[in-house]
Amino acid sequence: MLNTQQKLEILADAAKYDASCSSSGAEKRTSKTGGLGSTTGCGICHSYTPDGRCISLLKILLTNACMFDCSYCINRRSSNVRRARFTVNEVVSLTLNFYKRNYIEGLFLSSGIVGSPNYTIEQILRVARTLREEHGFRGYIHLKTIPEADPDLVAEAGRLADRVSINIELPTEEGFTRFAPEKQAPSIRRTMASLRLRIDEAKAEKKAPRFAPAGQSTQMIVGADGAADAVILGTSATLYANYNLKRIYYSAFSPIPDASSTLPAQAPPLAREHRLYQADWLFRFYGFETEEITSGLPTACLISTSIPSLPGLCGIAIAFPST
Ligand code: SF4
Repeated sequence: MLNTQQKLEILADAAKYDASCSSSGAEKRTSKTGGLGSTTGCGICHSYTPDGRCISLLKILLTNACMFDCSYCINRRSSNVRRARFTVNEVVSLTLNFYKRNYIEGLFLSSGIVGSPNYTIEQILRVARTLREEHGFRGYIHLKTIPEADPDLVAEAGRLADRVSINIELPTEEGFTRFAPEKQAPSIRRTMASLRLRIDEAKAEKKAPRFAPAGQSTQMIVGADGAADAVILGTSATLYANYNLKRIYYSAFSPIPDASSTLPAQAPPLAREHRLYQADWLFRFYGFETEEITSGLPTACLISTSIPSLPGLCGIAIAFPST
């Protein structure tokens, strides 16, 4: 039987693959053999609020068990990893204790899917509801929602959380069919659309109940399915336009133990992630069309070519800002 500390080690480590709130630039340090200052392993990461403040979040999974078998995921059903599961009260108590000690200002909570999508999101909601309603917790809460769950349950996540997110993970339908056949891309998009509607309604109507004031975000894995950067950016542009996402996070694929032979054996260079963020900024804030960034691209990814010169475009954008 695992104690809370052991569960925390497993479930904080399992959450690190989700880049949608992370201090991804921090170098790895460990304090397991003594010393202070580890940025990994304890489940605390940094994120940014809508007003630009950097805050610390307890970033964990409720469980790393999952009934799905997405081949790129270390928590998939067939993965040979140590499993753990927090109770609702354990997550509530960790969050409150860490908050009172000033370790964190909020919670990022995700989960593998256990029992059913509805059961899983109900457990996530019980944590958020207990924090908000029983303990008056006013800190930041980011909840991962489950697209296959009942829309009323997803809507409750929006009422309790500051930010909600659903990871699209793969940029193409072919990628879903190949690597996550139990997931339905249309259901992810439908859920994003319903969240957008409620977020927009809450913003437009002064007296409307609060609904995910920090908006919704998603994550795309880079380099797992062979999709070129032009394809990834095209999907991003569609997602931003259709669902008014606050952020898309690009997460370089990490090779996992006992992986399918259809997945790459090596991680893509981190510079690829970096270039995608630059390109993402260019079309979101500086008015570039994705085609201007990717046209004439002779290879699959933005880092391996000088055509078009992305650093050059960034230079133009800095010299002639849009605002
Ligand atoms: S549903 Fe989520 S946690 Fe489960 S295998 Fe797929 S990506 Fe991993």
